[in-house]
Amino acid sequence: MIIGDYHTHTTYCDGVNTPEEMLKAAIEKGLKYYGFSSHSYLKYDDSWTIGKDKQEDYIKEILDLKEKYKDKITVLLGCEYDLLSENDLSKFDYVIGSCHSIIKDGHYLSVDHSEKTFVENVEKYYGGDYYAFVKDYYELLSTAADRKDITFIGHFDLISKYNLGYKYFDEDDERYDRPMCHAIDRLARSGKPFELNVKATFGISKDGMPSTAKWLDVLSELNGRIIINSDAHSTVRISADFEKAQEFASQNGFYSTLFLTENGFEENSFYSLDTEYHLL
Ligand SMILES: [Zn+2]
Ligand SMILES: [Zn+2]
Repeated sequence: MIIGDYHTHTTYCDGVNTPEEMLKAAIEKGLKYYGFSSHSYLKYDDSWTIGKDKQEDYIKEILDLKEKYKDKITVLLGCEYDLLSENDLSKFDYVIGSCHSIIKDGHYLSVDHSEKTFVENVEKYYGGDYYAFVKDYYELLSTAADRKDITFIGHFDLISKYNLGYKYFDEDDERYDRPMCHAIDRLARSGKPFELNVKATFGISKDGMPSTAKWLDVLSELNGRIIINSDAHSTVRISADFEKAQEFASQNGFYSTLFLTENGFEENSFYSLDTEYHLL
């Protein structure tokens, strides 16, 4: 059963549909909860984030929609907060803590903008040492553990976006493992759930990213918790492939996902009574 989707974008940042179009689609798909999570403003690049002076408009529009559709769906007002942002987060129901860039020697280096930029940055600022970039990425992401205003962690392994087939670094090498495990440990201790991001996990590899399988496995050993989200930038992607994500999570140590209500997280078992079982 799919209950909610909390990582979604609109025309306020880099999405293609308006908030109302997204919400209507979520209602049609039968969701009980829907969360809006525009990208927080970033001073060094606002081409894909909410505009500098648009946050109040965004908050007002989402709260108006929440009221307008309250008999059909519960709307939560959220934000995908980049760890290099400086937004006021006090008005949000929940905050996704994500890392899209890191700072190196005063330069903002994108992790996921394009493969070309990724490679150029590692060459120029790390002398081609991908493991040093990986380490800095996981170190920055792990600081989310100390942020009380962050509700859960977004696309934990974004650093592996262009690394399918271990194209640039070996994810079984301890220079990858050590910083990854350290970040998992620190974040899991803080009690924050990790997002299983459908777009990041299946967008490039239809079978799911090996990097995601890896952290799921480590997190499950630590009794960590996950929440499945689409990262939809258009109506068609809302809650798409959630069953596939559940299957993937269950193959890597998880039996349930969380969903977020106005009163906090609740658990949704993959094996609830309305699940269809296929016995082999
Ligand atoms: Zn993101
Ligand atoms: Zn996103």
